[in-house]
Amino acid sequence: MADGALPGAEALAEVLADVRRYLDWHRDVAGEELHASSDGALAAIAAAVTVEVTVEGSSTPPVVVEYREVYAEVSSAPPTPEPVPEPPLAQGSAEPPRLDEVRQALGDCKRCKLCSGRKNLVFGVGNPRARLVFVGEGPGAEEDNQGIPFVGAAGQLLTKMIAAMGYSRDEVYICNVVKCRPPGNRNPEPDEIEACQPFLEAQLNAIRPSVIIALGKFAAQTLLRTDTPITRLRGQWREYVGIPLMPTFHPAYLLRNPAEKKPAWTDLQAVMARFPKPAP
Ligand code: URA
Repeated sequence: MADGALPGAEALAEVLADVRRYLDWHRDVAGEELHASSDGALAAIAAAVTVEVTVEGSSTPPVVVEYREVYAEVSSAPPTPEPVPEPPLAQGSAEPPRLDEVRQALGDCKRCKLCSGRKNLVFGVGNPRARLVFVGEGPGAEEDNQGIPFVGAAGQLLTKMIAAMGYSRDEVYICNVVKCRPPGNRNPEPDEIEACQPFLEAQLNAIRPSVIIALGKFAAQTLLRTDTPITRLRGQWREYVGIPLMPTFHPAYLLRNPAEKKPAWTDLQAVMARFPKPAP
């Protein structure tokens, strides 16, 4: 505690009450989701607190006041730590994980701040044995509502692109770099990408497709671990852990810049030329 002062249980209760007021204020601004976790947050703060109380001039050894005495005054709910399962190894493991195991390991993910605003986690959709995997950026509003990637306006264009390549959505696999919607459709932030990346890599490791199409800057830069702009990456064959990868423009970008549909189509044709769809 500040200045070496050693507050007792009462002072600590006041601090915790302040924290509760702060969280309640946030509830009004950020909505119920945050409030739902405020008890947990309070418990986490309180759990970190033990105070040694020394009576000045006394030879009595210090008394340790633990948070529990104080927390009970603020909330009757005991703090319940949530077990966070570790993701299966993305690469290098002897046995690649199965896609359903990857989903299971992701669980009700709270590894980054995007969890607080999501309605649904958007894991991925399609054939777990797909030859062709499309990786986008992150869910938008419609994807968040439905829990399915690429179902909004950009998704409709992607569906047409897939059909133009001779596939249905069920035959390919579609997923994103981040599995939860960034608020207001902002770009995913580096810590959010970092938290989700092992799961994207595990998905790709489970599917082992013949080819990956990286849709836009975030997919291409994340998988290739580069800062090179998408305008320079697109159309150039690359590899992700030995799997051929074609970076191209994101469908949302194509909706805003229809003139770029032509080069994007060239990229998809390059994929079809190298990996023709096998006859049924
Ligand atoms: N944009 C993406 O990158 N992914 C989606 O799922 C939807 C829009």
